[in-house]
Amino acid sequence: MDYDLIVVGGGPAGLSAALTAVCYKLKTLVIDAASAGGAPMNNFPWKIVDNTLGFRNKTGKEVADIFVNHIKEEGVEIKENESIENITRDDAADEILVETNKNKYTAKAVVIAIGVLGKPRKANVQGENLNGVNYTLTDPNLYAGKKILVAGGGDTAVEWAVGLAQAGAETAIMHRKDVFRANEKNQNDIAKSSVKILWNTETKEILGENGRVKKVMFANNQTNETKTEDFDEIFLALGNVPHSDFLEKINVKTDERKMKILVDETMRTSIKGIFAAGDITKVA
Ligand SMILES: Cc1cc2nc3c(=O)[nH]c(=O)nc-3n(C[C@H](O)[C@H](O)[C@H](O)COP(=O)(O)OP(=O)(O)OC[C@H]3O[C@@H](n4cnc5c(N)ncnc54)[C@H](O)[C@@H]3O)c2cc1C
Repeated sequence: MDYDLIVVGGGPAGLSAALTAVCYKLKTLVIDAASAGGAPMNNFPWKIVDNTLGFRNKTGKEVADIFVNHIKEEGVEIKENESIENITRDDAADEILVETNKNKYTAKAVVIAIGVLGKPRKANVQGENLNGVNYTLTDPNLYAGKKILVAGGGDTAVEWAVGLAQAGAETAIMHRKDVFRANEKNQNDIAKSSVKILWNTETKEILGENGRVKKVMFANNQTNETKTEDFDEIFLALGNVPHSDFLEKINVKTDERKMKILVDETMRTSIKGIFAAGDITKVA
């Protein structure tokens, strides 16, 4: 047996689970498909996180670095850029096999803490593979002075648009509805910002020059009026494709939409030895 515990996903939940494991002297491995630190590190590293107890005026990356360093100082082994592809229980050996895109490991127990973000949803329009089409925003300051289009209507899209505008980018946001899904704070922030809002608008095509974004053709879905405008970069925040296929493959009990792992009050899943933590869980 390689480890007492393997934690799948190194976000706030996975790292908290690893810290608890250390208290019980379990030999623990944390594996993350991207960088350890989870969504604060990989999805909003630049954003000020102002609702985490004990942290004020720190960016997502700064908060994530504190989490990750804490765990490293406790001696927990962390593997990054390694994606878990399957998890199976061997009843005879009473162990769990964890298969990644690089290795195979065995453990007495596994905690699944993969969050809910899955993969970014595509717009499925022509030109989406051009350079300058982005699904994450790592640092708004890189785009100061550029002309930017953000597509989407949730918190992520609104936060990106406001962040880009504050960093000095000429920013427009397009949303297929006439109201944002974003929370009240984000709606207030965008109302006060210089972001130009295109309501009831959808991307039709992204047009490029030398492999890079040059223009976007978009249409108003109420009037069918079509417009083409120059942009330097496009940020697509159209939501995420959940982990449903992975959850189905590992055969763990989920909610009806196959988006969340069902757990009991001690975070046990339907499979012996496999636990879950964080955003991916729903108490059965
Ligand atoms: C844009 C954005 C802004 C947010 N802002 C705030 C905020 O201001 N305040 C707040 O409290 N919350 C905020 N949240 C929510 C917060 O980030 C989450 O609630 C929190 O990160 C959940 O932690 P988690 O550990 O469950 O999952 P995550 O943080 O999502 O971590 C999951 C980890 O699992 C990894 N992973 C996924 N699949 C695999 C796989 N197959 N193999 C290996 N690793 C895998 C991922 O790479 C990721 O690092 C925000 C979220 C987003 C997306």
